[in-house]
Amino acid sequence: MFCQEKSAFLKVGKEEQARAKAFCEGYKEFLDKAKTEREAVDYARGFAKANGFAPFESGAELKAGDRVYLENRGKAMAFAVIGEQPMEQGVNIIAAHVDSPRLDLKQNPIYEDSGLALFKTHYYGGIKKYQWMAIPLALHGVAVTKTCTVKVSIGEDASEPVFTITDLLPHLAEEQMKKKASEFIEGEALNILIGSEISMSNEQLGISNDGGNSQERISDSVKKNILVILKQKYGIEEEDFVSSELCIVPAGGARDVGLDCSFVGGYGQDDRVCSYTALTALASASAPKRTAVLFLADKEEVGSMGNTGMKSTFFYEFIRGLAPSDNLHIILSNSQCLSADVGAAWDPTYKDVMEKNNAPQLNHGLMISKYAGSRGKSGSSDANAEFVGKVRNIFNEAGVAWQTGELGKVDAGGGGTVAQYIANLNVDVLDCGVPLLSMHSPFEIAAKLDIYMAYKGYSAFYKS
Ligand code: MN
Ligand code: MN
Repeated sequence: MFCQEKSAFLKVGKEEQARAKAFCEGYKEFLDKAKTEREAVDYARGFAKANGFAPFESGAELKAGDRVYLENRGKAMAFAVIGEQPMEQGVNIIAAHVDSPRLDLKQNPIYEDSGLALFKTHYYGGIKKYQWMAIPLALHGVAVTKTCTVKVSIGEDASEPVFTITDLLPHLAEEQMKKKASEFIEGEALNILIGSEISMSNEQLGISNDGGNSQERISDSVKKNILVILKQKYGIEEEDFVSSELCIVPAGGARDVGLDCSFVGGYGQDDRVCSYTALTALASASAPKRTAVLFLADKEEVGSMGNTGMKSTFFYEFIRGLAPSDNLHIILSNSQCLSADVGAAWDPTYKDVMEKNNAPQLNHGLMISKYAGSRGKSGSSDANAEFVGKVRNIFNEAGVAWQTGELGKVDAGGGGTVAQYIANLNVDVLDCGVPLLSMHSPFEIAAKLDIYMAYKGYSAFYKS
């Protein structure tokens, strides 16, 4: 039977179904610990060290079986398990991204209005803004002070406060409800509620008791009180926000979804689902024939820009560093890559934007997409048929449930991945990842069987 037509539940035995559920326990922990690219890199470093990887040292002679990693500014990371064959015969690369859509604090974020203190934000990546209103939010990231870098995570533990963006009550929303969803809330309205208390006297706050109007004094007091808390608890002063990367993300952990617990629901599964499955697959790759490489990139959601994104020379230089010879062009031309990123799963509620024969379905396994892009395949690197054939055989031989998948109807929209930037290095690249429901929302859904099949498929690719 053609791959597309059958649920993996009909192909996979009970034992493997149980393995898939067990595998996803570790995955949910990863999602909880890695809500930003920096936290994903922190997790990946710890995971790599626990699995025998050591920091890569430039010029070091590597032998088969060696495991190395290289970090890029704490936000992107490359790994390799050295293979038995000479690198000139090509390496097997998997590339995923660890950044996800979110709200970043602006560089001058704190203000006060009408006795309430708020943070101004600037959204990062493609979001439906209204999904971020009236839900619990957490603050994650770093602030670089005059003397050190402070790591912040507030809102995950039940003992910690959360934050939120207020929405209008339905009683007064008659005009608001007439607006298009894209205009329902504007970027400048994504303001985070952070406080209201005046806990100190004017004297303690350094405000004189004589002169000035009382409105102004109250206004100052709430913001100043928040600044006092930030200084006392985290050592952060107002100017430190200028040199900070503080992100607002949905608060709370990943959860099982469904009475049968067949799904994982949580924030940031695009693309941490492929990051985690590829990382665990790499760790299980012992003595591969071809050198196995993993890239975890930042900035995919904003076009792979910047020195931590896939367009940076960092990843290219990592491969060059593994084999300090003049044959880099030969290594790359013989290399193959799975661009590991998520797809839009068939949703019975939104059939009109998808084409059934080519949409990936939940529980139908790991998805391969020969091309991404928009409309006339614009912006797609379009994998070569020969390479697609090779990957298909690898998956079939390893008993991986897989399917083909396209991002919606031809004219419905589209999107890209990091595939094209690696293909530009003259590497064969195929998009291959996990289908999601509610992609780019605060609570994305993936099927446990598909997550496990990603791990299984990536493992088989590294062994090939
Ligand atoms: Mn993605
Ligand atoms: Mn995305």
